[in-house]
Amino acid sequence: MSAGSSAAATTEFTNPNLEVLFNAGQISERIAELGAQITEEYSDKELVLVGVLKGSCVFMADLMRAIDLPLTIDFMAVSSYKDGTQSSGDVEILKDLSNPIRDKDVIVVEDIVDTGLTLSRLLEILGSRGARSIRLASFLDKPEPRIKKELKIDYTGFVIPNRFVVGYGLDAASRYRNLPFIAVVKDPSAV
Ligand code: 5GP
Repeated sequence: MSAGSSAAATTEFTNPNLEVLFNAGQISERIAELGAQITEEYSDKELVLVGVLKGSCVFMADLMRAIDLPLTIDFMAVSSYKDGTQSSGDVEILKDLSNPIRDKDVIVVEDIVDTGLTLSRLLEILGSRGARSIRLASFLDKPEPRIKKELKIDYTGFVIPNRFVVGYGLDAASRYRNLPFIAVVKDPSAV
């Protein structure tokens, strides 16, 4: 199919304001490893993947296809960051699970753990619902700003430095979620 008109020189995927940290190949290799590990560890369990919207949507889609087991999925949406880059510590449930998790083996699937405030509160809430087990998978771990030091990430994609990253589901002011790689925005004022 023809585009019909000449393409712009710079697209979102070749945006010069982005510095790539992990490319699509590196990401898919790592997800395959995580999927194989979870497949081995959950073979006799009733696995439910709980994605935390919106940031985990891409990781969730790739991770579930790397797990060779019968499983179900569900989603929650919570507010933590508003439009800026500061974690408030207050977590509001915007969308709750569709199905009960009683007696299930849950893996909460997150995009990134930063201060850990959002996840700690979410795990507290889910912890009161009678699941047989609850573990945490986070695509990115940014340990430096961690406030909730006791938070254990059972499955980590990559550990990153204390930089604000976008892509692979993560946004800056609602943009960049569709990037197939993880990048740092070089000049945030140009977003
Ligand atoms: P925490 O409560 O751990 O500080 O923050 C967790 C949430 O903050 C993540 O789910 C994500 O939405 C957002 N967040 C934290 N660090 C980053 C980052 O480097 N980039 C983006 N786009 N979001 C982040």
